[in-house]
Amino acid sequence: MWKRNYKTIIVLLSIIISASLAKGENKSNNNINTPTYDVIIVGGGFSGLTAAYHLKRKNVLVLEKKEAIGGRCISGNWNNFHYPKGTEYIGKPESYMKKLFRKLNIQATQIPAPTDGVAYKGKFFFGEKILDYLSPEEQKQYTQLQRKLKELADEDIEDIIFDKQQRLSEYTALDNLSVKEWLNKNGYSSLIQKFIDVENRGLFGTDNANCSMLFNIPEMAFDLPLVESINKSEVYSFNHGMFSVAEALGKRLGNHLITGAEVLSVMVNKDNSISVTYTKNGKQYHANAKAAIMATPAPITGYLVKNHLSPEVKKILSEVSYSQYATINFFTKRRLLHQTWSVSCIDEGEVVTLYDATRPQVTKDYRGKSILSVYMAPEDAYNQSFVNQSDKQFIENAYQTLNKYYPDFNNEVIDYSITRFKYAFPIFSPKYVETIKILTNDSTLDGPIFLAGDYMVYATVDGALISAEVAAKKARSYLRMLNNQHFTIERK
Ligand SMILES: Cc1cc2nc3c(=O)[nH]c(=O)nc-3n(C[C@H](O)[C@H](O)[C@H](O)COP(=O)(O)OP(=O)(O)OC[C@H]3O[C@@H](n4cnc5c(N)ncnc54)[C@H](O)[C@@H]3O)c2cc1C
Repeated sequence: MWKRNYKTIIVLLSIIISASLAKGENKSNNNINTPTYDVIIVGGGFSGLTAAYHLKRKNVLVLEKKEAIGGRCISGNWNNFHYPKGTEYIGKPESYMKKLFRKLNIQATQIPAPTDGVAYKGKFFFGEKILDYLSPEEQKQYTQLQRKLKELADEDIEDIIFDKQQRLSEYTALDNLSVKEWLNKNGYSSLIQKFIDVENRGLFGTDNANCSMLFNIPEMAFDLPLVESINKSEVYSFNHGMFSVAEALGKRLGNHLITGAEVLSVMVNKDNSISVTYTKNGKQYHANAKAAIMATPAPITGYLVKNHLSPEVKKILSEVSYSQYATINFFTKRRLLHQTWSVSCIDEGEVVTLYDATRPQVTKDYRGKSILSVYMAPEDAYNQSFVNQSDKQFIENAYQTLNKYYPDFNNEVIDYSITRFKYAFPIFSPKYVETIKILTNDSTLDGPIFLAGDYMVYATVDGALISAEVAAKKARSYLRMLNNQHFTIERK
């Protein structure tokens, strides 16, 4: 399950509140006809939209490059079914998420159990037999691994990362290791390692060799299927999939959101005001603001912000690598996967997870036209040509795996939709804690530029929402400080 990092937000907020705010004295060189906002937010994915929501009492403008909002959380419709093209689910909404959804008047619903399965060498493993792809000895090792991960996760890793507790050195040691190194060191069988690899590629686009063990723990501790909990569901979504959240956030913005608006540059002026240049329908526009929240993937943020950021932050932004990913939604003549909701595919190849996209929308015995979502990730997270494959190549790769489970799979298919993600998941590689520390503490990020995005915290919706709340809180303090400065000058 996508782990909820409740602790992180509290710790991050306290770090941020104590941080110093940027200073500026000179007059702005703004053109009088250029619209001026309190905050311009670049990017209309979950983090940009959530930041805007938390700044709802301010005059904000969200600029989104694509015609649709939602970023990596996009979905489609076929035959009266909705289906995910990116983000599919979250864990049980609690704490800040629960509060946000209640305020947005949207309700997460549980995806019906059972929700897990495994596909290996042409056979599915569901229900009580879910671990039968492993030998009895490997099943013991697997149970031990689950226990170990839960123990490690119970230590509130986020506290340790951000709050320097006594056990930091032990956890830093985990951040120094890749998942592969840690599993090897602890003697886990190659098949267990293969399963974890597929899970990591499915959930983070990142293979074991390139994923920090520390950042793997929260997710894996909750994600390894247990025989005793096969009839429980810990996964949730909405009536239009996860896109419902983006939809609800976007609705509130009205004309404070411009889609199809690609930001070209973000400049900090001498007086610390912000000037943004963007294009829409081939025309160039300018807008000014007191502050900007950059809610774009790290390398894009690094490219767009033309000045002000420290060399350390610039370097980090250009160095955060993203794995690539693709999803294929196959529209099929009948419902092919009905025994469970998601299946991890351990066979060699690019297919990592299958989802029955219709499960939350039909009854258990429905067998009519349906949608099978096939999630595909490179075997090496740093493969930067994965999305360059043609549709034909992607389809052939998918068929190679699917034909093992559904003979003559292509004859089941009515149509398909492929989505490619160039910036799918920030790679939380070993030593990523150092990256987060700099992004949290660097004084050039105390205003007027603020950063949001999953790469700041954790590569999930939780990471995006938390980073957005933190960025909005920092922006509010910054605006308050500007107001106080103004008030003091007026009184003098
Ligand atoms: C296939 C897939 C499945 C996933 N499944 C899950 C899941 O089930 N659960 C989960 O918790 N997480 C999941 N994730 C991760 C989750 O989607 C992300 O962590 C989250 O959506 C990140 O949101 P964001 O706003 O930070 O970034 P993004 O969603 O990438 O938003 C950035 C936005 O910036 C816009 N932009 C870029 N350049 C410009 C520009 N120059 N001007 C203006 N706008 C610009 C982009 O168009 C985009 O809309 C998944 C990711 C992928 C790729």
